[in-house]
Amino acid sequence: MSLSGAVVRRKKVSPLDRDATGRPTLLLDWYDRHRRRLPWRPLAGERADPYRVWLSEIMLQQTGVKTVGPYFEKFLARWPDVEALGRASLDEVLRMWAGLGYYSRARNLHACAVAVRRDHGGAFPDTELGLQSLPGIGPYTAAAIAAIAFGRRTMPVDGNIERVVSRLFAVEEPLPQARPLIQQLATTLLGTTRAGGANSRAGDSAQALMDLGSSICTPKKPACALCPLNGDCVSRARGDQESFPRKAPKKTGALRRGAAFVVTRGDELLVRTRPEKGLLGGMTEVPTSRWLAAQDDKAARTQAPALKGIARWHRKAGVVAHVFTHFPLELVVYTANVAARTRAPDGMRWVPISTLRDEALPNVMRKVIAHGLAF
Ligand code: SF4
Repeated sequence: MSLSGAVVRRKKVSPLDRDATGRPTLLLDWYDRHRRRLPWRPLAGERADPYRVWLSEIMLQQTGVKTVGPYFEKFLARWPDVEALGRASLDEVLRMWAGLGYYSRARNLHACAVAVRRDHGGAFPDTELGLQSLPGIGPYTAAAIAAIAFGRRTMPVDGNIERVVSRLFAVEEPLPQARPLIQQLATTLLGTTRAGGANSRAGDSAQALMDLGSSICTPKKPACALCPLNGDCVSRARGDQESFPRKAPKKTGALRRGAAFVVTRGDELLVRTRPEKGLLGGMTEVPTSRWLAAQDDKAARTQAPALKGIARWHRKAGVVAHVFTHFPLELVVYTANVAARTRAPDGMRWVPISTLRDEALPNVMRKVIAHGLAF
């Protein structure tokens, strides 16, 4: 109601209608002063190397900057360019990747390097479309490489950028439905060089938003006082920043249970390689039962490997717990020792415990082996 008593109907303002003038410049000015130093980032004004950008983006999917840093350096020292990585064996790449998790990324990384070397003369395509034709490069990674390495005017939207943008414009729609709108809004934040025109600073704009999301617009207690965009942030003005991005209720997978069998033969351990396709594909593991919801210990125990000379299995106290993206897992660990010369069952092999670090062991298996070999 207005002071004169007339009813005033407010026009519903779409986030896209909001005036974004000035935001791209404020963001880039802030980035020029506060950009993070990261092993894969060139110095200000230098051109980014597509190989480094791609390698870091693949490693950073589902993994934090701190964890990725040493792996990135290790890969770069071993394979300084995509040609070199394209000549490596998958096994070697998987071994080097061990511990980073989500191993399908390593297999795709290798397949992509092979494709760039074989089909593109060792140079990454410089368009989003061309990049997306490569193994393991989805829309986000293609946009990140296109913007950061090739200056294409496109905005890659990761979790950090989703958070910043949804707060800045107070996007009420929940994720994942809100993604197209957030993508559109994020694109309004792309900047140019001070001279403007066709010179894009798209890569810097994207990295500025990534930095802002990870250091200032954090999931809890964002430091809005330090934010270069705080004068024009809708959720900050309302005081409900932490409630963005809106999310649909989560569905978590049911707990799966199983048994793992840690069998030693002197200083050797019995292992096998997981099938190439599927969860932890191509990785090394000790034999396990199937991993099933509502499986009881007795049923899991009956799936122990058939080995001659095992008088009894020793059950270790407690369980090894691990959380995969789609389900949590609990494994009971059984141990046994067999006589020298005991043959490994079909599809399994003995490896010296001292060389286990050279095996492509996923984290869950590292936990199982540590638990099984602990006295
Ligand atoms: S003002 Fe606060 S909530 Fe808004 S974008 Fe900046 S840090 Fe995020």
